[in-house]
Amino acid sequence: MIRLEHVDKRFQQHHALKDVSLDFPENQTTVIIGPSGSGKSTLLRAINLLEHPETGHLKFDDLDVDFSKPLTNKVKFAVRRKSGMVFQNWNLFPHLTVLENITEGPRVVLHQSKAKSEQRAQELLKLVGLPDTGKRYPNQLSGGQQQRISICRALAMDPEYILLDEPTSALDPELETQVLRVLKDLAAQHQAMIVVTHNMDFARLVADRIVFFEDGEVLYDGAAKAFFAAPSGRIKQFLEAIT
Ligand code: ATP
Ligand code: MG
Repeated sequence: MIRLEHVDKRFQQHHALKDVSLDFPENQTTVIIGPSGSGKSTLLRAINLLEHPETGHLKFDDLDVDFSKPLTNKVKFAVRRKSGMVFQNWNLFPHLTVLENITEGPRVVLHQSKAKSEQRAQELLKLVGLPDTGKRYPNQLSGGQQQRISICRALAMDPEYILLDEPTSALDPELETQVLRVLKDLAAQHQAMIVVTHNMDFARLVADRIVFFEDGEVLYDGAAKAFFAAPSGRIKQFLEAIT
């Protein structure tokens, strides 16, 4: 279980996270939505320790990260071992094949054998509908295919949570559908995910919980059904503006 307690982050004059406290339960998909610049990426990056808030705590199972203290490499490693990040622009290594991209982490970090890591990689490629791409290089694949490979790369580390920051925003609608289908399957298998997205159809489809963010603050944190069933005030206005 991931828990943020009183997390505060400023960028110079900008107060990006204002005393944010949130729980991200296991086996659930939490979708984070909100206007541009509201702090969604900063929040996700703080969970993976890619940002260092000034104060507050990140609690991850039995780990307790106190943001008011320096973050050691040991702590970063421990947190990232439990959570895999998938970026908007997939970030695959261009000089490695698909299979090598997926097996690199398990081999180097988890010390898996070549055979075991490759077997798992092939299973994951099948899962995302790309069973025959192992020998190809990233630039020989479409954006949607590369994004599915980067999801495989995160899953290969057997993380408790996968964190995704607008995983489909760089894709055209057809490729977006391919990626969303994979994420929907993962959600159905209760893979814990935290997803930032502007795609409300996707949010409706997969979210167990919604966190609505505005100006560094949580305006809604609760069941997805209730969020969409009876929006009011600012949230109603937001939903009407984008759908
Ligand atoms: P979007 O939907 O456009 O991706 P977001 O909700 O993800 O927006 P963040 O990227 O978290 O927003 O940014 C929150 C605020 O913090 C913004 O006003 C942004 O300009 C500011 N910010 C983010 N990163 C930095 C940085 N490295 N230096 C200065 N300001 C930053
Ligand atoms: Mg963002």
